[in-house]
Amino acid sequence: MKALVLKDYLKLNYEEAPIPEPGAGEVLVAVKACGICGSDVHGMDGSTGRRQPPIIMGHEAAGVIAEAGNAANGWKRGDRVTFDSTIFCGECAFCRRGQINLCDNRRVLGVSCGDYRRQGAFAEYVAVPERVLCRLPEGLSFEQAAMVEPVSIALHAVRRSPPVLNDTAVVVGVGMIGLFVIQALRLAGCGKIIAVDVVPDKLRLAQELGASHTVNASAEDVLACVQGLTRGFGADLAVEAVGMPQTVEMAVRCVRKGGSVTLVGNVSPRVELPLQIAVTRELTLYGSCASSGEYPTALDLLVRGAVNAAPILSAVAPLADGAAWFDRLYRKEAGLLKVILKP
Ligand SMILES: [Zn+2]
Ligand SMILES: [Zn+2]
Repeated sequence: MKALVLKDYLKLNYEEAPIPEPGAGEVLVAVKACGICGSDVHGMDGSTGRRQPPIIMGHEAAGVIAEAGNAANGWKRGDRVTFDSTIFCGECAFCRRGQINLCDNRRVLGVSCGDYRRQGAFAEYVAVPERVLCRLPEGLSFEQAAMVEPVSIALHAVRRSPPVLNDTAVVVGVGMIGLFVIQALRLAGCGKIIAVDVVPDKLRLAQELGASHTVNASAEDVLACVQGLTRGFGADLAVEAVGMPQTVEMAVRCVRKGGSVTLVGNVSPRVELPLQIAVTRELTLYGSCASSGEYPTALDLLVRGAVNAAPILSAVAPLADGAAWFDRLYRKEAGLLKVILKP
């Protein structure tokens, strides 16, 4: 089969690779679309240590079952599927509690981090355990389905910080995850949704996708804007989708007494916390990692158009051109959000 292989750091090659052998309980999926994730772009230069070459990256994919093997549960050749990027064991204490994103034996497709190497979906075929498969609803394209992972991450973050009807929410950072968080907060019944970023184009998109107000943090005083929009009260909740010291601090300062901050971004491994604010204002901090069972809901919202992924999809390109698209994303070309590659 053809695959896009990370041969060395920053060196992607479109070349022949062996078709993966599905193991017990696994199926072989013929990949029809696979999204380039920020973690692939960050990882391919070695900075995260999670894409050690040689590796076929890619974990945001959809396709058709090519070989169902001895899969149970009625999966058969030709079924249109997507799959959870996190391969969970189904047996550890966390899986048994339904917290599959916290699985003790969690492996991510298309990742090699020293502990394991699991070939991903920038290839014609990928082997995945049937446990993580999700059937595609009729009418949902493979390209739309390849965007289900970031939608699920946003749904999970909103579920962690459950807003109540008419709450005011601040979303700090409106990249792809932030843009889906805004849509999920809207669906969850938030009243005001205040989007904060430093890129005007992203703020425009945030407004198009449901933010009621936007604040450009490089030109405006974010805290003053939030106070002004809430009559000095502060927001009920904030979702932080960047993960840097200044943005985490901003999220913490934006919320009212007794409010909550959900932390999704984690660019910096460490940040300083305004401890006295968190303590004396009785804030609740939630960490939110990946997703845990939100895939079917995300697929349903996508196919019904309740979540709009179209403005976030920047380009669909052949897998053979993958290296060039990775390069453009790596150089942070303005306006590029999600790029999907098709084998
Ligand atoms: Zn991803
Ligand atoms: Zn587990």
